[in-house]
Amino acid sequence: MSEFGLDIAATDGPARAGTLRTAHGAVSTPTFMPVGTAATVKAMTADAVRATGAGIVLGNTYHLMLRPGPERVAALGGLHRMMDWPGPILTDSGGFQIMSLGKLRKLDEDGVTFASHIDGSKHRLTPERSMAIQHSLDATITMVLDECTPFPATEEVARASMEMSMRWASRSRAAFIPRPGYALFGIVQGSVFPELRARSAAALREIGFEGFAVGGLAVGEGQAEMFAVLDYTVPMLPAERPRYLMGVGTPDDLLGGVARGIDMFDCVMPTRAGRTARAYTSRGVFNMRNARFADDARPLDPDCACPCCQKHARAYLHHLFRCEEMLGPMLLTWHNLAYYQSLMRGARVAILDGRLDGYAAAARAGWQEGDG
Ligand SMILES: [Zn+2]
Repeated sequence: MSEFGLDIAATDGPARAGTLRTAHGAVSTPTFMPVGTAATVKAMTADAVRATGAGIVLGNTYHLMLRPGPERVAALGGLHRMMDWPGPILTDSGGFQIMSLGKLRKLDEDGVTFASHIDGSKHRLTPERSMAIQHSLDATITMVLDECTPFPATEEVARASMEMSMRWASRSRAAFIPRPGYALFGIVQGSVFPELRARSAAALREIGFEGFAVGGLAVGEGQAEMFAVLDYTVPMLPAERPRYLMGVGTPDDLLGGVARGIDMFDCVMPTRAGRTARAYTSRGVFNMRNARFADDARPLDPDCACPCCQKHARAYLHHLFRCEEMLGPMLLTWHNLAYYQSLMRGARVAILDGRLDGYAAAARAGWQEGDG
């Protein structure tokens, strides 16, 4: 079984094209990870997710610890077996959803106590418990438990939050059980303060991780601020380790992240949008409920090889959403994920050819141009 690691095949400025080696197979990078919240990428079979070209998916510890429970997942052979995804799976720590629970949670130095959004039952998550749950799920990549600092935050609040997250990162490292081909990723916090980001990155490097995530972004700071944080944060991370930008984002965010040296992304955007009639295409974003599609016989995206675009007209998609037929969300989720994957594949080829700038400019021109 191969050791976990990233082989970098080419660079183009800060951007990298590589191969992530894991216990559950290899993944070409840069890569977009579809979000499989409750051990399913919503509206998609695992075969369909594979057909889009996805190499790695994400699972949510918070949701899986409540239902069906980590012991039950382990008894069913782990997440890979249960959801028919033998490839690599990254699980988040549960922290982000719990921090989002607002009044339903109480944070202290040791961990966080929270009430389930399902039945109000009380639960406790600590760095050690998060590691144990992700172990039961058999996550290929485990994330440290951290506090996702709210935005905006004063520098004082952001510092205290980041410092606690670094203590939790250290406890996560100690509790994580290493296995060949498996990884634990640290998460850089520090909000929009360069000095805090630098101290966080230094603390994580000191502890030592198989990969490094940039957290606390895409929380309302805006794209320009997010890119500014990446501009100074990414160079603080070890060049030979994978870098993961959490919870990002739009196709344009992804291209900007790749150009700044990010290897991995995840976001609910393409799947959520697929269920709400929002299409991401090479010609920009469409709302398929719009009446202008009622008689549009063209494929959704003429440049896309997915079944939705190969077999159906825009008018059919429009009709499915108008009638609230479940095939509408299924087809559009498939398309959106296929589009995200093709965007990442194109970026990878462009990096290998040393022409990422030109590739990104052409993609942006297509979004601007629209569909006439
Ligand atoms: Zn398509």
